[in-house]
Amino acid sequence: MAVAKLTKKDLDDLAARLQSERAELLEQLSTIEDQAFAATQSDMSGDVGVDDESADAGTATFEREKELSIEQNVRDLIQKIDRALQRIDAGTYGICQRCGNPIEKARLKALPYVDLCIKDAQASSRR
Ligand SMILES: [Zn+2]
Repeated sequence: MAVAKLTKKDLDDLAARLQSERAELLEQLSTIEDQAFAATQSDMSGDVGVDDESADAGTATFEREKELSIEQNVRDLIQKIDRALQRIDAGTYGICQRCGNPIEKARLKALPYVDLCIKDAQASSRR
C-alpha cells in the first residue's frame, strides 16, 4: 500500500482534532466525577430504610464500577491523545511504534491518536 506522507496541513488538522477531542473527553471526565461525588453524598445522607439499604448499596456499587470503567477508558484515551500531540511536536507522529513504518494516512484520519500501523494493531489485538 502506498503511504502518502503527512503534509503540514494534515498535521495541523489532526492536531486540531486531537485538541478538541481532548477537550470533550476532559468535559466527560468532569461530568463522571460530579456524578460520582453526588452518588457519594447521597449514600451518606443515611435516610435509607434497612431493607432498601442492601439493594441500594448493591446498585450503587454496580453503577460506580461501571462509571469507573468508563472513567478509565476516558483517561486512557486522553493519555493516547496526549502522546499523539507530543509526537506531533517531536516530529515523530504517524510512525508505527512497533515496526517504525509510516502509519496509513486513512487510518490516522479515522483515529488520529493511534500509534500502530494496521498490521501491528491487528497483531496486538489478536494476542
Ligand atoms: Zn507497524
